[in-house]
Amino acid sequence: MTTHHTKVLILGSGPAGCTAAIYAARANLQPILVAGLQPGGQLTITNDVENFPGFAEAVQGPWLMEQMQAQAEHVGTRFLHDTIVSVDLSKRPFVAVGDSGDQYIGETLVISTGASARWLGLESEQRFQGFGVSACATCDGFFFRGKRVAVVGGGNTAVEEATYLAGLASHVTVIHRRDSFRAEKIGQDRLFALPNVSVVWDSVVEEVLGSGEPAGVSGLKLRNVKTGADSTLDIDGLFIAIGHTPNTDLFKGQLEMDEEGYIVTRPGTTQTSVAGVFAAGDVQDKIYRQAVTAAGTGCMSALDADRFLAHHGQIAAVAAQ
Ligand code: FAD
Ligand code: NAP
Repeated sequence: MTTHHTKVLILGSGPAGCTAAIYAARANLQPILVAGLQPGGQLTITNDVENFPGFAEAVQGPWLMEQMQAQAEHVGTRFLHDTIVSVDLSKRPFVAVGDSGDQYIGETLVISTGASARWLGLESEQRFQGFGVSACATCDGFFFRGKRVAVVGGGNTAVEEATYLAGLASHVTVIHRRDSFRAEKIGQDRLFALPNVSVVWDSVVEEVLGSGEPAGVSGLKLRNVKTGADSTLDIDGLFIAIGHTPNTDLFKGQLEMDEEGYIVTRPGTTQTSVAGVFAAGDVQDKIYRQAVTAAGTGCMSALDADRFLAHHGQIAAVAAQ
């Protein structure tokens, strides 16, 4: 077991964690970043990214994250491959323990452990992920201009995703397992007023249909949960919008969170309810959930940590690693 000590301990290697690391390293804070089970974060499971500024042509998600890691390391970040299994935020310095058994001691802590989209859990859904099945309309809607898409879900996210997609796709079919949406009425009214949107009520997706070469979605097999009747729906893209789960179990009872488990930060900052602990990216953002907003709050978290250390000083001597 090794003990690692740093002025800024960063949990998570997505856009938020990498950007926090770049800023912290350039402020000479010698950050340590613990990458977690998904090095590079959510963008590593997508293909074309067209909305991260700085690239005229689409870039590949995994490539973009390799570049962010390389940039963070280039300016002095120690990138470590481990997953944190417990933390103690009751006093400073903060202590985190990895599943390797290593201990990480941070004078400040940046939490950027992201959020995971919920999926239906179908084998065919997984097979076509990135090839017609997506959980992010803002990210992937552009690829379905003039095509037919379906959205699964009945909450605010599903209604917003469907409304957004209706501006791009030729037709949007919302598939919901009940006979009414839980989304706010105003959003529903806006959606129902659109000419190219229809809803299939009381239905669930049983299978995503498509071909393998080149991989692409061609339709859905649906089941009506009230009548048991099966049907097929021809579509080119499927958007799953049944909610996200923030990766915050580790911090429950130690940090203020909202009712869905997102970490609460002081408006305009990344400061959490514990002084010296900062949260950046999707772990504290249930609205925007974009790589560029995650990177933006990652930057803020490093600047907040730097200011915090300048005011509160360092508790233990940071040993050279
Ligand atoms: P994440 O990217 O979720 O990274 C979280 C990190 O935390 C991971 O490295 C994980 O290993 C680590 N972690 C979790 N738990 C632990 C732990 N216990 N210990 C240590 N580390 C841990 N956004 C766009 O702007 N444009 C797009 O085109 C786009 N396309 C997308 C396509 C798909 C399929 C998906 C799923 C998302 C897409 N997004 C896109 C959204 C974007 O990926 C996220 O908003 C962004 O990645 C959030 O960054 P983050 O750093 O907050 O967290
Ligand atoms: P949500 O409110 O939990 O809604 C999830 C939807 O997906 C529900 O309609 C649910 O059906 C359905 N669903 C869940 N699991 C399913 C499954 N396995 N198969 C099929 N359908 C399934 O999630 P959300 O829409 O992502 O919203 C999360 C939170 O963010 C909410 O508090 C929401 O108000 C908020 N939000 C707000 C805004 C806004 O204010 N503009 C925008 C987006 C999100 P049932 O209805 O049958 O349970």
